[in-house]
Amino acid sequence: MGIHRQLCFLASLLLAIHAGPILKPSDEEKAIAEDYLRKFFNLEDEMSFPRVHPEEEFNAVEKVELEEVKVEAKEKVDTLSVKLKEMQTFFGLRVTGKLDRETLEVMKKPRCGVSDVRSLKTSNLMSEGSPKWKTNPLTYRIENYTPDMTKAEVDHSIRRALQVWAEVTPLQFTRIYSDRYGTPDIMISFATTDHGDGMMFDIPTLAHAFPPGSGLGGDAHFDDDESFTFSNNSHNVFVLFLVAAHEFGHSLGLSHSSVSSDLMYSLYTFTDLDRSPLSSNDIKEIQALYGLPDCQNLVWDAVTTFRGETVFFKNGFYWRESQGRTVTQLPIRSFWPNAPDNIDAAYEDPVHNKLFLFKGSQVWAFDGQNLEPGYPKPLSSFGLPASLTRVDAAVHDNNSGKTLLFTNREYYSYDERQNRMDEGYPKRVNTRYAWVTGVVTAAHMSNGNTYLFIGRTLLEFSDRRFPGLLQNNYFLPC
Ligand SMILES: [Zn+2]
Ligand SMILES: [Zn+2]
Repeated sequence: MGIHRQLCFLASLLLAIHAGPILKPSDEEKAIAEDYLRKFFNLEDEMSFPRVHPEEEFNAVEKVELEEVKVEAKEKVDTLSVKLKEMQTFFGLRVTGKLDRETLEVMKKPRCGVSDVRSLKTSNLMSEGSPKWKTNPLTYRIENYTPDMTKAEVDHSIRRALQVWAEVTPLQFTRIYSDRYGTPDIMISFATTDHGDGMMFDIPTLAHAFPPGSGLGGDAHFDDDESFTFSNNSHNVFVLFLVAAHEFGHSLGLSHSSVSSDLMYSLYTFTDLDRSPLSSNDIKEIQALYGLPDCQNLVWDAVTTFRGETVFFKNGFYWRESQGRTVTQLPIRSFWPNAPDNIDAAYEDPVHNKLFLFKGSQVWAFDGQNLEPGYPKPLSSFGLPASLTRVDAAVHDNNSGKTLLFTNREYYSYDERQNRMDEGYPKRVNTRYAWVTGVVTAAHMSNGNTYLFIGRTLLEFSDRRFPGLLQNNYFLPC
């Protein structure tokens, strides 16, 4: 190492030492930390950090140092240190077992009031095992409102937050307006500080919810001392939809995740409101409790082959059958990060080995998972009329090399080998596929047969004179 590099090394070493936690936590911060560890990491009530008393500080530097040595020695075996390490591990912080700045900063961040660990002590909030609802549909009632938003905004936020979970499970949610129709499973209310369930609201808690069960079970409470909003992403204002979607995860039986991109992460995180806040992990967890939605009742947005598999699209998700006839439902963006949030139509072009996804007046092309340069492009790049605002369904025919693009009750034929639209189109769908009276919502080809989805109806067109009527879940065993 040259002299210059040695100097640089020394300088960075000094910097590193200086950047360390020089400031000792104040008594107030120690109290915050104890409270935090009690609430979220099951610290026992009698455990507390040693306080440095002013007279001792005044006495002699030696005495303070001696105190520090004693504290540090104690910390090695202390529950506090163990709890701090547990918390630091959970949040991916440096695991020091000490109350350093970084740890204190996380403790001040807005979060959910439910514990980060499962234990007997907090069993009123997190029961052992995996509690789940045995009934479906579940009922909910909004008991009161926050002055932060209009009633319509609150109603909409709550409905959408429940819908987040309904999209990935067979669960359905019915709103009831009065106790006359029985006690709802999920009671939703806004409250402040002490509100009668033994779970005080204070900084930095935004809300909490109880796992499935009778009484308080399933109920979700929101701290009205916080500011809720319909859609603003600004400091110290929290999108009710996102907070509620997280809380309803608890209402359905989920506990906290330590992965920051999961909705069930304990700290509040703003995410794109135009798409589902669920990660693949959240979906896996909730489906482990309730299973997948019932495919038979779904109107697919699109169906296509993709590398020898059949892939179905619905809202922000794609579905496929993996080995062992198990069906998986994952966010579209988890596989195609540059895809739109949801799509209208899809097809695979084996000639150029590309996957095309349509949404509105645009089309995206993918090579595997990667977006092709120059995409998304307008539909007119396909030779479709510029006035066209959407494609409802698309399917590629390997035998003819043609791709059929359905829109409303008409279809176009695109020649993949010649890279141009065929003459004489659009044509009425029922001139080629008799019996089809509705709009084709998704289309698929398999073993030389064409399958058209008209809403929940699936028709099979083969050599036979009449189309076959099939169950909507014919291709997906769920
Ligand atoms: Zn939570
Ligand atoms: Zn409460």
